[in-house]
Amino acid sequence: MANLRFKALEFVNSRQPILPVLPSNKVSDYYGSNVYGIDAMKATISAENIKKVLTAIEKGEKIDMQLADAVAAGMKAWAMDKGVTHYTHWFQPLTGTTAEKHDAFFEPTEGGKAIEKFRSSALVQQEPDASSFPNGGIRNTFEARGYTAWDPSSPAFVIENGNTKTLCIPTIFVSYTGESLDYKTPLLKSLGQLDKSATAVAQLFDTNVTKVSTTLGPEQEYFLVDSALYNARPDLVMSGRTVFGHAPARGQQLEDHYFGTISPRVHNFMVDFEIEAQKLGIPVRTRHNEVAPSQFEVAPQFEEINLSVDHNLLLMDIMNKVGERHGLKVLFHEKPFAGVNGSGKHNNWSLCTNTGVNLLAPSSKPKENLVFLTFFVNVIRAVYEHADLLRASIASASNDHRLGANEAPPAIISVFIGSELSRVLDEFEKSAKVEINKGDNMYMKLGLNKIPSILLDNTDRNRTSPFAFTGNKFEFRAVGSSANSANAMTVLNTIVADQLFKFKRDVEAEIKKGTKKEVAIADVLRKAIKDSKKIRFEGNGYSDEWAKEAEKRGLSNVKTTAHALEFYVTKKSTKLFIDNGVYSERELHARHEIMLEDYTKKIQIESRIMGDLALNHIIPTAIAYQNKLITNYKGLKDIGLKAPETVLALINDITTHIDAINKNVENMVEARKTANNIEDAAKKAVAYCDDVKKFFDPIRYAVDKLELIVDDEDWPLVKYREMLFLR
Ligand code: ADP
Ligand code: MG
Repeated sequence: MANLRFKALEFVNSRQPILPVLPSNKVSDYYGSNVYGIDAMKATISAENIKKVLTAIEKGEKIDMQLADAVAAGMKAWAMDKGVTHYTHWFQPLTGTTAEKHDAFFEPTEGGKAIEKFRSSALVQQEPDASSFPNGGIRNTFEARGYTAWDPSSPAFVIENGNTKTLCIPTIFVSYTGESLDYKTPLLKSLGQLDKSATAVAQLFDTNVTKVSTTLGPEQEYFLVDSALYNARPDLVMSGRTVFGHAPARGQQLEDHYFGTISPRVHNFMVDFEIEAQKLGIPVRTRHNEVAPSQFEVAPQFEEINLSVDHNLLLMDIMNKVGERHGLKVLFHEKPFAGVNGSGKHNNWSLCTNTGVNLLAPSSKPKENLVFLTFFVNVIRAVYEHADLLRASIASASNDHRLGANEAPPAIISVFIGSELSRVLDEFEKSAKVEINKGDNMYMKLGLNKIPSILLDNTDRNRTSPFAFTGNKFEFRAVGSSANSANAMTVLNTIVADQLFKFKRDVEAEIKKGTKKEVAIADVLRKAIKDSKKIRFEGNGYSDEWAKEAEKRGLSNVKTTAHALEFYVTKKSTKLFIDNGVYSERELHARHEIMLEDYTKKIQIESRIMGDLALNHIIPTAIAYQNKLITNYKGLKDIGLKAPETVLALINDITTHIDAINKNVENMVEARKTANNIEDAAKKAVAYCDDVKKFFDPIRYAVDKLELIVDDEDWPLVKYREMLFLR
């Protein structure tokens, strides 16, 4: 093993830079060139058909077979022109990655010949033999069929892989009985619901609003490691994180990495993947170093959320592939290294009307600020009502390492809005009856006229909040870097949709009683502000005081996934999902089970790799080194010299650590056996969380101590300092 480590290090030092080849000096020349977008459509299908497709997408209507035929023919012509030979339905099964099954365009014909075909039926629907994707018991073998169905709202694209090109068609993935088996289907359902409710509320102010879209800008954090070093770390390969490794002499304490100069090697990689992304119409614009050494961020411009989620997944995929070319492994795990910051995916989220208004942007016109306040307050109210569910939506084995680790948002859900808006809400809540006959005075009295200038100039920043308002959008920061954003966004959309429906209902009830519309809105908002006050927190979310204060307020602090997930299936959540048509009870339970199983499997894998490395790599190394010390000690004595006491102490220390490792691994394996016998998925996950995982820290502690003792020449695992400071 030590041999492998040194070979890898030698290899890293001999790497030559790989320079990206810019297709053109102007991004606009190649931006979107691999997407079947409007230009490609114009070149391949009639104007009339384009109009039909766009209307169907806009209104969320079905596309009939005739139209699908025309689109399929157009897509095929465009793709073949680009040298595409295969097509695939591209979908998002609950394994967290994307899936593809490639089919060739050509079909054999009589006489040993072939013809290129792509029928509308192949565009619209496929039946991948997908029986081994997780389904939470929904698909028994007799109904093991899963179907993928075209999502026309996300355009088809071409993926280049070496010399071959594949046409990818974004699809949903459902069971034979219609239950969703992916992330996209519930996301689309939640979006439909949010559109309906937000449009209804927006129409209280402006009847021209006929559609509200949700926007998302996900900031993606990641680590880079040289792939030779990555391959020499079995824990990274198996579990995505290092289970052992002593902190390097220099970590992030110098704070010199954040926004620092990007090294040429990393820069080449970034430019290269950005080119690929831009060809696919992914609007990546921002790149910079992050806080931890070898940690980086890429942020695209925000887009409609369904497209944005697809783009984020595609981007992660591209980064992996381009990374390979540069000898780099991209780590999306939330906490690949202990002792330095972990990675998140800040989900910037907002609502936008068909009239082009960002509903979460305060305006310079006082009157319009009631619109802003309406949506702003209702989001806060929704988060308050379903904080536990929102917490569950970001739960995963890997994100557990990050949340509440004094570097990332805590597991306590709270909302940060900044001092200015806090003041506005406080005033709004206090002001008694509103005089309505004085026109704009109402808003003046509430102090709303002061929002714009102040807000636009200095939006408060509070990096410790899991859910922060940042000027014209909410930023859900607790989402994990490896997560499919759709999971958290489906929950956020659903709770906000539900809240907006209730708001509309309450306002209408007031109006029916004869209250003037603006007063009714103000009254209902005031109540919402009051009701949801507890969720607002402006202080330091990392502090112990906050944990105490939150407890006093009755806010939950659920630290682990195994315990957080149960909030998916409470009576309240079940009703929410069913009422809004996002999940049926069966779908919800299936999903819950899949998430639990995923958690259990991840901890199981980590536990196994830990045991394996500790027993088969670390202990033998430690014993070998201990023998060297013993030989040295004896040798000195043999020739009549005094052996240093420290040598004896080291020999003893090694024994102590080896014993600790042995004992804890043994107990961990026993705990695993017990847990494995538990039938119930929820109880099993809890057993892994509470009974198995607790051995991770003591094992790691002993191993990391040994790393400090054993001769560097003998140590089998690539060290933190070797991985974290990229050359
Ligand atoms: P930060 O300081 O947090 O990096 P930025 O202004 O750079 O903030 O924006 C971060 C992300 O938020 C970007 O992806 C940006 O496109 C996105 N964003 C900006 N406005 C909106 C919006 N209205 N809806 C959704 N995302 C938005
Ligand atoms: Mg941000």
